[in-house]
Amino acid sequence: MEKRQELYHGKAKTVYTTDDPKVLVMHYRDDVSAFDGAKLAKLERKGETNNKFNAFIMGKLAAAGVPTHFVRLINERESLVRAMKMIPVECVVRNICAGSMAKRYGIEEGTRLPEPIFEFFLKSDPLHDPLVNDDHIRVLGWATVSEIGEMKALTHKVNAVLTPLFAKAEIDLVDYKLEFGHPVDDVGGPLVLGDEFTPDGCRLWDHGTHDKMDKDRFRRDLGSVIEKYREVAQRIGAPM
Ligand code: UDP
Repeated sequence: MEKRQELYHGKAKTVYTTDDPKVLVMHYRDDVSAFDGAKLAKLERKGETNNKFNAFIMGKLAAAGVPTHFVRLINERESLVRAMKMIPVECVVRNICAGSMAKRYGIEEGTRLPEPIFEFFLKSDPLHDPLVNDDHIRVLGWATVSEIGEMKALTHKVNAVLTPLFAKAEIDLVDYKLEFGHPVDDVGGPLVLGDEFTPDGCRLWDHGTHDKMDKDRFRRDLGSVIEKYREVAQRIGAPM
């Protein structure tokens, strides 16, 4: 597998084509962004930390029967992934109320939900990722009814795998965001988890102290961002 040209330069990752059109190289940079790109910084060791964190989580999900685009780690900062045609919505599951849901409904952050709540957001920085429902997605053509069902089922399955994985490390999986798509060589087949699962896209709180161990440390200027990501990795047994 040979790395070719840059295909996409995102806020934290750069994607490269390879000599095989079915696979891409995902390069994790040290960049961090929040508030739709309004707050930017570089954090030392973030790229390698998230690359390895994601590889560990994707491995656990694959072992539990969740199809993912992850193929293998290539080096400290890069992974090989299946090339995907992504669905332009973000799937969020919340186990504890925080962030935008706490603000939107005036509910105190930290309120435990009697069961997980699923939300869809449209992927659009200029529109600030608005909350959308099944009808918006179906009628406006972003995904079909069956894809909507698959996204919900897979996102809940991920919750059933990851909530206990973090709980064993005395960490609460508060909420997280997932993105799905179809591998370019199987666009008619089942949906596959894409993008990443790292502390950049979820909320993780120490169960006992409620200490934040995720990107809220950057959003809220709490410091020790990567130190906390690495502490999570160590506690869940992810090799760093
Ligand atoms: N999230 C994300 N990317 C986004 C929006 C949300 O990774 O573009 C994650 C976020 O880190 C949190 C969860 O999804 O774990 C729910 O985010 P929320 O809707 O509360 O929005 P935020 O507070 O991040 O604006």
